[in-house]
Amino acid sequence: MVYKRVVFTMDRYQRQISLPEIGAQGQTQLKQTRILCVGAGGLGSPALLYLAAAGIGELGIIDGDTVELSNLQRQVLFNTRDNGKHKSHVAKDRLQALNSDVTIQCYPERLSPKNAIQVMENYDIILDGTDNFASKFLINDAAVQLDLPVVYGSISQFEGRASVFWAKKGPCYRCLYATLPKTAIQNCAEAGVLGAVAGIIGCIQATEAIKLALHLQPRTESFQQVASLKPLIGNLLILDAKTMHIENFKISKQPSCAVCSQHPTITSLDEANYPDCCALDIPLPIDFELNVHEISNRGHVELIDVRESNEWKLEHIPGAQNIPLSSLTSQSELTLDPEKKYVLYCQSGKRSQQAAKIMIQKGFNHLQHISGGMIQWKIFNSKSEYSIHEMLEQNPTP
Ligand SMILES: [Zn+2]
Repeated sequence: MVYKRVVFTMDRYQRQISLPEIGAQGQTQLKQTRILCVGAGGLGSPALLYLAAAGIGELGIIDGDTVELSNLQRQVLFNTRDNGKHKSHVAKDRLQALNSDVTIQCYPERLSPKNAIQVMENYDIILDGTDNFASKFLINDAAVQLDLPVVYGSISQFEGRASVFWAKKGPCYRCLYATLPKTAIQNCAEAGVLGAVAGIIGCIQATEAIKLALHLQPRTESFQQVASLKPLIGNLLILDAKTMHIENFKISKQPSCAVCSQHPTITSLDEANYPDCCALDIPLPIDFELNVHEISNRGHVELIDVRESNEWKLEHIPGAQNIPLSSLTSQSELTLDPEKKYVLYCQSGKRSQQAAKIMIQKGFNHLQHISGGMIQWKIFNSKSEYSIHEMLEQNPTP
């Protein structure tokens, strides 16, 4: 039986064992590696599939979200039947079916300043599949404390970025972004993304994680070949999928970095450093969701558009006032009455949820939002104003 098992394993991995950079010893190294994937979304899906297929010994999946229909355009771990189920549980089942050799740990929760060290310390490599600055700062700061490499990825529209941050050998994420960029909230919200771009970057992340795994463990054979595998430490890869132009920018360690310099100012995971992560834990009211039909049937409502002012100037719902999400996070006092009812909206309904959580913290108790935001509002109004032929004329697609 033992013989059969070995043959089976060799058969599964033969195409990568035949690579001199990997070989039988490299395959054992992969088996001994533990990788935590933070976020099982657009980046985590392809990355996890390839890591499990490659025979990584242990994979951790931390994600507090459930599968939504809108995820399926890029999150290839899930299918239509998974709608509403916990992402980490579905991901585990799918990956285990792909390769039962891999041990998989599920964490159906969001990575937070409270659990980050406790979860991350069980792994050798962290793969960052998150989509917001607060989570990326949190992963970075915890990884610097734990001396762990982070395989970074980010996607927006047709652009993808990847790097490896490892303070021991090069710059960290805070060497690249010292503080939260002013435009961060707008960028990470609803810019949209081509699913295939998430696939490309997720696969780059899986490749980088495998290269790191081959470097981490002690090696006696094929030392030269392994040295030829150079992880993206100190490099930021930027892909423009519109032209398929790929550029590699050198990034260096910042002597004044708040986390990885000789005199760091951030030495613990203080919740104040990651405001978005903490705000996400706040529950929303039961009657929070409001659809566009309900809005149009109501009389006067106090509408607040939480998109940025440039978006507001382009178009907005008549009668609404503009209080951008970025100003909500910075303003300590709001000139609104906490006892009044307000209906928030943004482009697709994501930022209005974030805004509501911030306002609830400030004492506002009568909040609702338009689900689907401006997008749904426009669809609803265009249906009532134009015929289908007029719409087709405006969007002539074969
Ligand atoms: Zn740094």
